Amino acid sequence: MSASADRKWRPETRLVHSGTLRSSFGETSEALFLTQGFVYENSATAEARFKGESPGFQYSRFSNPTVAMFEQRMAALEGAEAARATATGMAAVTVALLGQLKAGDHIVAAKALFGSCRYVVEDFLPRYGIPCTLVDGTDLDQWRKAVRPNTRTFFFESPTNPTLEVIDIEAVAKIAHDAGATLVVDNVFATPLYQSPLKFGADCVVYSATKHIDGQGRCLGGVILGSEKFIQDNVHTLIRQTGPSLSPFNAWVLLKGLETLPVRVERQTRSAGTIATALAGQKKITRLIYPGRPDHPQAALIARQMTAGSNLIAFEIAGGKAGAFRFQDALRIVRISNNLGDAKSLITHPATTTHQRLTPAQRAELGISDGLVRLSAGLEHQDDLVEDVLTALAAV
Ligand SMILES: *Cc1c(COP(=O)(O)O)cnc(C)c1O
Repeated sequence: MSASADRKWRPETRLVHSGTLRSSFGETSEALFLTQGFVYENSATAEARFKGESPGFQYSRFSNPTVAMFEQRMAALEGAEAARATATGMAAVTVALLGQLKAGDHIVAAKALFGSCRYVVEDFLPRYGIPCTLVDGTDLDQWRKAVRPNTRTFFFESPTNPTLEVIDIEAVAKIAHDAGATLVVDNVFATPLYQSPLKFGADCVVYSATKHIDGQGRCLGGVILGSEKFIQDNVHTLIRQTGPSLSPFNAWVLLKGLETLPVRVERQTRSAGTIATALAGQKKITRLIYPGRPDHPQAALIARQMTAGSNLIAFEIAGGKAGAFRFQDALRIVRISNNLGDAKSLITHPATTTHQRLTPAQRAELGISDGLVRLSAGLEHQDDLVEDVLTALAAV
């Protein structure tokens, strides 16, 4: 199947067919190649393959047919030239950044980041002589002012976790490129369906495939996408030689997850919008943030940059931590879990879970109040979800 044929297809079609490699058995569903290595017909073939003169697989740390199908399907969806899969989303983030950087370089990142991403840029990279400046990602002046002569890369996520702020990809990419730096975007919250950072100038997009791409709470995984050159220069060798690789089994689960991604995410997004509407105007809701609503503070940017909202809603319950805990504990369908993008609706209280590592002042700076919860809408019937949320609210 040629890549040029793929390009004419709409995303739903790519997600079912792109990247498929059929074995000589002609199987309908993608095969799971649960193998560590590959045998060579003879010594000369082995030699040629190691020299890179004959195409083919060698060892599953860096190449496996099932993992390759997942990578190619992701690349087709994202409109990227190349992709590499990793064992987790954090492996994807770490490889995408570390692969470009060396001691003496400098990185600029938005401070509203998934907890472990913030650890990587704020605590981990500086240990190797790569200092980081954290900025308010929505303030373009802060990005400009943070640039130093040795700035190599910019990093942010959008919408952000957990307050669903949106960062202007095109504007930040321009500042990065003017400074001779690259831009890496963590696109998990938008999903590849609703936002395409490469189109707005990003050099690299990373995903935790653990979230919507699996979508049924089973496997961890990650993926890094960019131009062939970006992947060859920064990503390929680091994965090959250090091994943060995706298991073929997990790649197979994620590959099958891609087939149903639009069906699931569209339904979840519709439910999230319905829940947000039900919550709006409730007296015990003191703040409501949903990227699909016209009252989102960055609605104009969202209309420009995203094609739909999200399956995530953030809202603040009156009564601070006690109010939020009462609300969460009264829910019967929505389960308490820090994960997201699952078939099951999940809710988390960031101040005491994902963001408890931050000081109260750092949390306040990010808008993470003690009453804030983040809800990931699942695949249950939206009327059941609305009933569950309103019943729990009545218990606060
Ligand atoms: C979950 C998540 C990650 C980390 O992914 P893992 O698969 O858990 O390692 C990174 N960024 C964002 C925005 C996430 O939601």
